Amino acid sequence: MAMSSSSSSSSSVRLRMNPANYFRPSAAPSSLHLLRRLPVAASPLRLRAARATEGDARQLFDEMPRGVEEVGEEEEERQRRRLKIAVVGFGNYGQFLTRTLVRQGHTILAHSRSDYSAVAAELGATFFPDADDLCECHPDVVLLVTSILSTDSVLRSLPVHRLRRDTLFADVLSVKEFPKNLLLNTLPEEFDIICTHPMFGPESAGDGWAGLPFVFDEVRVRGGCPARRARADAFLDVFAREGCRMVEMSCAEHDANAAETQFLTHTVGRTLAMLELRPTPIDTKGYETLLRLVDNTCSDSFDLYNGLFMYNNNSTELLNRLEWAMDSVKKKLFDGLHDVLRKQLFEGSPPLDSGSAVAAVGSPVDDVAIGDGDVDSDYDEEEKE
Ligand code: NAP
Repeated sequence: MAMSSSSSSSSSVRLRMNPANYFRPSAAPSSLHLLRRLPVAASPLRLRAARATEGDARQLFDEMPRGVEEVGEEEEERQRRRLKIAVVGFGNYGQFLTRTLVRQGHTILAHSRSDYSAVAAELGATFFPDADDLCECHPDVVLLVTSILSTDSVLRSLPVHRLRRDTLFADVLSVKEFPKNLLLNTLPEEFDIICTHPMFGPESAGDGWAGLPFVFDEVRVRGGCPARRARADAFLDVFAREGCRMVEMSCAEHDANAAETQFLTHTVGRTLAMLELRPTPIDTKGYETLLRLVDNTCSDSFDLYNGLFMYNNNSTELLNRLEWAMDSVKKKLFDGLHDVLRKQLFEGSPPLDSGSAVAAVGSPVDDVAIGDGDVDSDYDEEEKE
């Protein structure tokens, strides 16, 4: 099995820390060779070693090397956690994630159906139009950021045999059971798998990721191998160190919750969008929240929304319940109206006035909170106005 970056970099750390493991002069050429083969996680060390001549090698290992000495423990830890990440699917969300990944010092190799060479260069990533070339770079992590609908075909088109056999695959799809089963059924057994869902996007995380939920399920990480464990931790740390609220949850549980929250939010947003709501001179706070909801949900692609429906087992039931809820509210209103009319027609009660109409209809329908209490009731304020 190929050695993962984490294993090589951590073994290089051990070599530096334990004098008993220092290479002796006679071993210098092969040590240099070893350093040259260090993966990206130890790139500064590798660069220094690559610049060294064979003559330098004796100095490099005989005495405590100056360059290595300068690497403080903090820096050492940072290097160890640097990953080479292939972002597959470089659209809206792939680019959004890449900004943070690059800022954290990871090496990003981007790949997508469309040519994003210029955008990638601007973001500090390298674009690979060819999936073979991408895989031959041996990324530590392959991160799927494709649309839910295209993930199956994109995954099957990747030449995974060109990757190292211990590669970590992760995804950020907004549904979780589907990619979990797909990855388990498609990838070679040696690959590790972590399914994730950062529950935020460019619209909701404009001010950073702190406090926002990051759901993850370590579907398959070989616990017995410290290097694989370290790499999985380094990947999860991308989100932890930004201050995300790390939520470990099974993919099934995620989908049940996400239908209730995310799919509902998107459905209400897209339904309201059909009404072509516009700001008015007398907008209430509640109405402004609805307008924002329309903006936030409709700025995501329809593919994303369609994926939330098609690939979450719980979505159909949620749609049915939403329809039932709308019908129930309507029924309450119309039942009250029929009562008033019946009384007028058959019992000779006086014509409808606003007071009796409200009394007949009953108390106003409770506000339905959308998302995290986003839509507050301003019914009372409106009544007073
Ligand atoms: P999206 O419409 O769901 O996905 C766009 C990406 O899918 C692009 O990279 C696009 O490639 C690729 N793609 C679409 N159809 C394809 C096809 N037939 N063949 C190959 N590639 C195809 O929009 P997104 O917002 O970027 O989301 C990407 C993923 O992130 C989704 O799985 C989504 O659920 C997840 N996610 C999104 C958010 C968010 O706020 N947007 C938040 C959390 C998770 P090209 O651009 O090269 O055509």
